[in-house]
Amino acid sequence: MKCPYCKHEDTKVTDSRDNPDEAIVRRRRECPKCQKRFTTYERVETANILVIKKDQKREQFDREKLKKGLLKACEKRPIPLEKIDAAVSEIEFKIANSGETEVSSKKIGELVMSSLKKLDKVAYIRFASVYREFADIETFQGELNKLMKK
Ligand SMILES: [Zn+2]
Repeated sequence: MKCPYCKHEDTKVTDSRDNPDEAIVRRRRECPKCQKRFTTYERVETANILVIKKDQKREQFDREKLKKGLLKACEKRPIPLEKIDAAVSEIEFKIANSGETEVSSKKIGELVMSSLKKLDKVAYIRFASVYREFADIETFQGELNKLMKK
């Protein structure tokens, strides 16, 4: 596992949480070179999950597509790739653990929004304005105001 900060090739696991009931392993890692710590999430199995699109058509869940959506929202924002990856894994994990074999694109959108909300307000607004398709500029402004107050 490469260090996301200094790109050092070898990092050591300092803490690992394996839960047999969950399809994910969360690991705390430390870079021996720069001493920075970070968290990794082991991939979960979402290959057989279908996404129900707005027009009711189904397509296979695609982690890369999900990641692209997040990257686009986070473009030019000061967010390390490591955090985006962790967010993608977290969303993937929630989908995999829902017990459903199908998930609506709307549900995925909601999951992405709640992740981005924690990550970066600007990225959240960017994503939300596309996904939630704010009916009008007032709704959008209202959402923006709510965020600014916090
Ligand atoms: Zn490092």
